[in-house]
Amino acid sequence: MASVAGVGFSWRSCKPSLLPRPAKPSRAATRLAFTIRNAVSVEKNYALQKSEEIFSAAKELMPGGVNSPVRAFKSVGGQPIVFDSVKGSRMWDVDGNEYIDYVGSWGPAIIGHADDKVNAALIEALKKGTSFGAPCVLENVLAEMVISAVRSIEMVRFVNSGTEACMGVLRLARAFTGRQKLIKFEGCYHGHANAFLVKAGSGVATLGLPDSPGVPKGATVDTLTSPYNDLETVKKLFETHKGEIAAVILEPVVGNAGFIPPKLEFLNGLREITKQDGALLIFDEVMTGFRLAYGGAQEYFGITPDLTTLGKVIGGGLPVGAYGGRKDIMQMVAPAGPMYQAGTLSGNPLAMTAGIHTLKRLTEPGTYEYLDKITSDLTNGILDAGKRAGHEICGGYIRGMFGFFFNAGPVHNFDDAKKSDTAKFARFHRGMLEEGVYLAPSQFEAGFTSLAHTSKDIEQTIEAAERVLKRI
Ligand code: PMP
Repeated sequence: MASVAGVGFSWRSCKPSLLPRPAKPSRAATRLAFTIRNAVSVEKNYALQKSEEIFSAAKELMPGGVNSPVRAFKSVGGQPIVFDSVKGSRMWDVDGNEYIDYVGSWGPAIIGHADDKVNAALIEALKKGTSFGAPCVLENVLAEMVISAVRSIEMVRFVNSGTEACMGVLRLARAFTGRQKLIKFEGCYHGHANAFLVKAGSGVATLGLPDSPGVPKGATVDTLTSPYNDLETVKKLFETHKGEIAAVILEPVVGNAGFIPPKLEFLNGLREITKQDGALLIFDEVMTGFRLAYGGAQEYFGITPDLTTLGKVIGGGLPVGAYGGRKDIMQMVAPAGPMYQAGTLSGNPLAMTAGIHTLKRLTEPGTYEYLDKITSDLTNGILDAGKRAGHEICGGYIRGMFGFFFNAGPVHNFDDAKKSDTAKFARFHRGMLEEGVYLAPSQFEAGFTSLAHTSKDIEQTIEAAERVLKRI
């Protein structure tokens, strides 16, 4: 039982299931305890020795030890946690520590991890094979679900990731309009295709890379950028490049620069300007799709873009992305039309199955009201606790997506977000890990709740936040 002088911290206040299993002290554990003590002035029995061993080995095998950069904890320091299993709202690491999870595999886990019905359907699908590389009826089923849910989508193409979806949709917008230029917003991330790696939010910001080396100048020369929520800059870009802009793409609620909601007049203005100029409006709903509402941000805000990208939730934890939109535009895509885009594993039966059963669960009554309620309780609880502890903190939420900044706010764009105290966020993040709460390891990432999160989870999280916020 470790009690920490001066901060009133005690493992006793955690549910027994949240207690880490005792671990044999080792040099690794000693090193880690030291790291934690430095980070949040707390010393306790939070062992990560297996995580450390596995991650050390991983660093020799994969660049930075990971297969996607933000997982490496660069912006919060310390070392990443290596996980063993997930279920519902919980995750367990290889050392046996249990966490309430607010990352949700970066968005897909909206009905909770490893849902029993999704798992059962996957096992049945698995018996029929893992990949056909040919049409299967499951593609029709998921396509119909997506088309009937998302108002802008009359026809859809499934791919394997959000990156692929955005890459495809940009080529399509250029093919359809016969124009080259693209407007994107600072802090918005649309995957790692060359044209989008300009002021691209969390991942690149975390690494301090304004743009990635290796992206040829030619690939971004047609990418114009504007601050988010800034209609005047967009208007000026359209005046300067009249008739040259193929599309405006945005995250309708930003999640890749922290959680930043749009001003409604900004979204309406973009719809109007693009229509007048003959450019296409693309909502990148890889994160917001089926999360803010069953019909995504476009349903929530009542605005219909020309094209939409999806990912995360529609794959229910398997690799899926999609782009879709007006039929006259989608008919340009090969083989219906000349715009080439393909994929060996696209429409994969397992991925389609996970998507179908995840969406089915989301159609049950009360889903989004529930997400709204728990996310509101969580966000308000953290913000109140932060203010009571004397921190400058602001934040917000919509349905199953939330975020907060150590910053007095308001935050309307990436520059506002960057005024946050990221060192304080790092201490908060580490403190919350010790308390059994897994938050995204960057100030510039949104958080996600799920239908599996209970009011008890939320209460526990707020209590943990209160303790941590007092000592950071
Ligand atoms: N667009 C948005 C809005 C995203 O949040 C992401 C991923 N976080 C992507 C595109 C890229 O998706 P993926 O990681 O599946 O390639």
